[in-house]
Amino acid sequence: MRCATHPEVETNLSCGRCERPVCPKCMVQTLVGPRCPDCANLKRLPTYEVSLRQYLIAVGVGMGVAVAAGFVWYLIWRAVPFLLLSLLIAAGIGYAIVEAISLATNRQARSRITGNRWH
Ligand SMILES: [Zn+2]
Ligand SMILES: [Zn+2]
Repeated sequence: MRCATHPEVETNLSCGRCERPVCPKCMVQTLVGPRCPDCANLKRLPTYEVSLRQYLIAVGVGMGVAVAAGFVWYLIWRAVPFLLLSLLIAAGIGYAIVEAISLATNRQARSRITGNRWH
């Protein structure tokens, strides 16, 4: 038996799900036994869904903050007639938006990347 992805490699291992022959180089050891890279990727799909949900939450948070910031910006624009000062405050609000979004996403994204051997 030869590995499906490395035809030059002789192996007696096979994926427990699709039974494709795999060599130790491309075999992925999972809790339920050896898997080929494809099946290991299938198994990781829920992780991707979680990250997609996190992304959507981040977009939602970002849009909410942006709307709030726009309202604050409108109030400032009316209250502060000096253009330069308004721009400085706007820059501060923009920084706050970026901080809020990265706080909402970064911590979990970072732990996902370090805990994932396929990255
Ligand atoms: Zn497989
Ligand atoms: Zn292989």
